Amino acid sequence: MLKAMTETLDIRITKTNHSRLHETDFNNLQFGKTFSDHMFVADYDGDEWKNFQIVPYGEIGFSPAISGLHYGQAFFEGLKAYKHADGQVSVFRPDKNARRFNKSAERLCMPELPEEIFVQSIAALVDLDRDWVPAQAHHAMYIRPVMFATDPFLGVQPSKTYKFFVLVGPVGPYFAKVLRVKVETHFTRAAEGGMGYAKAAGNYGGAMLASRRAAEEGFDQMIWTDAKDHQYVEEMGAANVMFMLDGKLITPSTRDTILDGVTRDTVLTLAREWGVPVEERRVSVAEILEGAKTGKLTDAFGAGTAATIAPVGSISHNGEEYFLCDPKEREFSQKVLKTLDAIRYGNIPDTHGWNYIVGGL
Ligand SMILES: *Cc1c(COP(=O)(O)O)cnc(C)c1O
Repeated sequence: MLKAMTETLDIRITKTNHSRLHETDFNNLQFGKTFSDHMFVADYDGDEWKNFQIVPYGEIGFSPAISGLHYGQAFFEGLKAYKHADGQVSVFRPDKNARRFNKSAERLCMPELPEEIFVQSIAALVDLDRDWVPAQAHHAMYIRPVMFATDPFLGVQPSKTYKFFVLVGPVGPYFAKVLRVKVETHFTRAAEGGMGYAKAAGNYGGAMLASRRAAEEGFDQMIWTDAKDHQYVEEMGAANVMFMLDGKLITPSTRDTILDGVTRDTVLTLAREWGVPVEERRVSVAEILEGAKTGKLTDAFGAGTAATIAPVGSISHNGEEYFLCDPKEREFSQKVLKTLDAIRYGNIPDTHGWNYIVGGL
């Protein structure tokens, strides 16, 4: 297990004089609506990161001309902290998110944030607001780091100044609804040479119309396909997608158009350890539909931090719907979900060093 080294980052802490903790109903949490008492803030002045602060959660002011708003120099991350039975709090694989944060920054011509600053800012904030990490089963603290451009200048060019923020808040269990998904053959999430691999804010705005249309047609989610011919599977909504086909765990290989998910990597690592054959490659829509028809497709799910494992109940393509077996009968995804929970809540040994323990007790 790794240990936080918060002492190396000089953070000025201003505590709130009115905690909202006891006004918060932890049994009624809606994702993304409840924030803890504090947030982390830092500034980039064109040269270096500075002004590391933890302040009471609240509104911030900025110029209406900031380029983050006008030209989309903005991106984020998403990860979670968990409370163990012994009261310890751990963040799951923050080093992976730190690395991905900088990949997004590079793609958007934004400054790199040293990995230690990323991890330590999160550790310090989660530690200060550790009472906000829910103790109930299947609950967690969601962590949202974000960076955006703050030059008040309408020229289309990279900003010189930026803000980095971390917001945290408790989240309840994600009820693993069995998803009715469609293969998207009109809209495109990402193209070769684009920024699909970055957690760029614009990628999500660009996907909303497709989501709305899919919802209007009665679908919970769409499977994104390649921008060129819509013949290859890429992702599912804002999660990676995996299939158990003919006894093999199959998932699209990471490329320009695919977000390199931490959950994806974690599931693949466990699968390999269990001796499950894993294939990271191009996955055609045709082979998935064929597998659904013949019964060789025995598992299909989205993999991401929010839901962990989101089971697919049926896949529709050009008006034809293909049904999969009951998620309760799916050996692989059930085992992954159980194992991941056990690791993150500290119920089995963390042999991979995935849990970053925050603060002391
Ligand atoms: C965040 C995200 C994922 C999942 O990544 P995790 O690190 O597992 O949370 C997958 N695809 C997209 C498009 C995403 O935004």
